[in-house]
Amino acid sequence: MRHFDTKTVHFPKPSGIDTSSKVTPIYQTSAFTNKDLDDMEAFYTGAKPYLYTRNGNPNTDELGMAVAALESAPAGIATSSGLSAILVGFLSVLKAGDHLVACQDLYGGTYQLITEELPQYGIEATMVPFEHEEEIRAAIRPNTKLLYTETITNPLLRVENIERVVAIAKANGLVTMVDNTFATPYLLRPYEAGVDLVVHSATKYIGGHSDVTAGVLVGKEALIQKAREKAVHLGTNLGPFDAWLACRGLKTLSIRMERQVNNARRLAEDLKKRPGVKRVFYPQNVSPNGDGAMVTIEMDKESVDLKRFFQSLGWVKIVATLAGVETTVSHPSSTSHRALPAELCKRLGIHDHLVRISVGIEDIDDIKEAFARALHAAMIH
Ligand SMILES: *Cc1c(COP(=O)(O)O)cnc(C)c1O
Repeated sequence: MRHFDTKTVHFPKPSGIDTSSKVTPIYQTSAFTNKDLDDMEAFYTGAKPYLYTRNGNPNTDELGMAVAALESAPAGIATSSGLSAILVGFLSVLKAGDHLVACQDLYGGTYQLITEELPQYGIEATMVPFEHEEEIRAAIRPNTKLLYTETITNPLLRVENIERVVAIAKANGLVTMVDNTFATPYLLRPYEAGVDLVVHSATKYIGGHSDVTAGVLVGKEALIQKAREKAVHLGTNLGPFDAWLACRGLKTLSIRMERQVNNARRLAEDLKKRPGVKRVFYPQNVSPNGDGAMVTIEMDKESVDLKRFFQSLGWVKIVATLAGVETTVSHPSSTSHRALPAELCKRLGIHDHLVRISVGIEDIDDIKEAFARALHAAMIH
């Protein structure tokens, strides 16, 4: 049982759970009973796994362990959202007086966490373009503890050079943390490349069905232990039912990704030929399993009425999320990247005429047709 696709359906089982049921039951309980005071004490000495769900629950443990196994990492925890997983990951490394260096083309929520929240707790950050190695090196200070980036960035789909980031971190004694939400372990496994902490918004491909908000942090045992403490103290635990849903979704990660990646590649090729599409952003040479299931297009301002395009998409829904089984679109400049200063957006190339497409599992001909129809309807004659 060492192959990735097999691991997506055979999860490691958390200790002390009922293993006779084929599927892990939902432990929809806030607490676990104790036979006597010695039995309760056993939780604190580590002899008994569960006491109170904020401290741990079989369903949330199962999700953390499953993603850890897929990332080839020794440990993992599940949290209430991708952002809370990023937060406890940060706090497992950083304290007041510390500094981190992050890529500047970050997910909007992470950008806000770093620029608006962390400074209030004495943690400073410098954000630089990670495509320039010398800028990363130049940003490192004596109190820098962490390098943070994303494997595939949002929405322009820049593919990070993870080996280079790890090399810089090692040379400077820094911890590395990487958001692998867009790639998923199906495409990239940064822990295998030497990254210390890998984080996911399980709301996206891990869950895969847009029915749960969750996060997972996996990585080195000692760091995950520290992150777990933070999660317990801050109360960022995930509900058992949500963890169960994410585990159920995770089992089809490989077959969903296989279809979605293939559809995305074909849609990207088709869109390149369409009038009104100025540029298609679709990464290349990401992994032997393909190049991802997200496609971003830049519309030609002169020839496409953007509002009309969004109104003409038919069954393709407009949503501020991604990675579900249905094809959806979003408008990054007014949603996910709204928090970024206008000047930074301009510098990064995240402007108004950018449309981000999350490609689903539908028949590719229907997907192509939906976009061709919307583009046709939006042409300014
Ligand atoms: C959605 C997302 C997040 C935040 O996850 P939530 O589950 O919404 O908290 C972080 N990083 C990336 C790349 C995302 O797409």
